[in-house]
Amino acid sequence: MSLISIVIPLYNEEGNVPELLRRLETVMEAVTQSGDDYEIVAVNDGSQDRTLGLLRAERVGRPRLVIVDLSRNFGHQIAATAGLDAARGDAVVLMDGDLQDPPELIEAFLAKWREGYDVVYATRKSRKGESPFKLLTARIFYRTIRRLTNVSIPVDTGDFRLMSRRVVDALAQTREKHRFLRGLVSWVGYNQIGIEYERDARTFGKTKYPFSKMLRFAIDGITSFSEIPLRFATYLGFMISAFAFLYVVVILVLKILGLNEPGYTSMMVAILFLGGVQLITIGIAGEYLGRIYDQVKSRPLYLLSSVERSAGPAEHGTLPRAERDIETALASTRRPTL
Ligand code: UDP
Ligand code: MG
Repeated sequence: MSLISIVIPLYNEEGNVPELLRRLETVMEAVTQSGDDYEIVAVNDGSQDRTLGLLRAERVGRPRLVIVDLSRNFGHQIAATAGLDAARGDAVVLMDGDLQDPPELIEAFLAKWREGYDVVYATRKSRKGESPFKLLTARIFYRTIRRLTNVSIPVDTGDFRLMSRRVVDALAQTREKHRFLRGLVSWVGYNQIGIEYERDARTFGKTKYPFSKMLRFAIDGITSFSEIPLRFATYLGFMISAFAFLYVVVILVLKILGLNEPGYTSMMVAILFLGGVQLITIGIAGEYLGRIYDQVKSRPLYLLSSVERSAGPAEHGTLPRAERDIETALASTRRPTL
């Protein structure tokens, strides 16, 4: 008998919660009939709407629903991490809470998992209800990241996927702050396989990823898995220096020949161009530096407000990571008794 966990990060998804749970239950019915069991780990990522209240109401008479409430909004990737930490399943499915990821695909995930795959990810064959701008930027994003990174991250693939226990445990060992989960999963390795699906439109509400957040997410992804931008700065520096050196020779020769003209234009162009290049390269270095700074501070990834879980047979196992984490966090603030 195995336990399947479904992890869902939720931020202001009040309009989606009831239908999401109902559709999941219909799908998971088949799982319980075949003798396995499941749990739904809903992570409330500091929602300002009624998401938490609705979850609590849904939990009445639903022992399989686990509610992980974070102390504030930590963002999608951290909320997902909190859910993965709390999940106890032998296989864990991560999905969005807006029904863009159809729960019906879980059966196909499970079939592949039973065949022995460790990661089954869902690749978007098409995406409904997205603006042309989002489609274009997403396309560019997945292809850029593929070129720049040294792990092979599948294109057009979000976080909707199934992971085996050993993959989830491996992820739990990576405690980087700027998490790019899909990259981390690729980095873990083992047997991974993709299946295609049609991504639905959001059922209720609007995206929590405006352009600014998407850009930050993209930069997180690239900086987490690639040093190429840093090297780019170096290469560019070398190239421009070489060019400048040649130019110096040219100017000197012109000077000797007496053909030198007072050149305001060329001077301005050179100054502005170099100034721009310097700012860009300092910026790139800064992106990495900022991430190193964040990591060095080693604050916990997230703080739990509460974990609501019904006692079940699995309860006698080890504490889920999330609770262990908060205990360590508490322990470290306690003064040592001398
Ligand atoms: N989400 C979250 N915290 C956030 C932003 C989003 O937990 O700060 C959740 C959100 O509720 C949803 C999932 O992450 O379940 C994906 O977000 P969204 O649908 O807005 O992203 P998109 O599909 O537009 O890329
Ligand atoms: Mg969505």
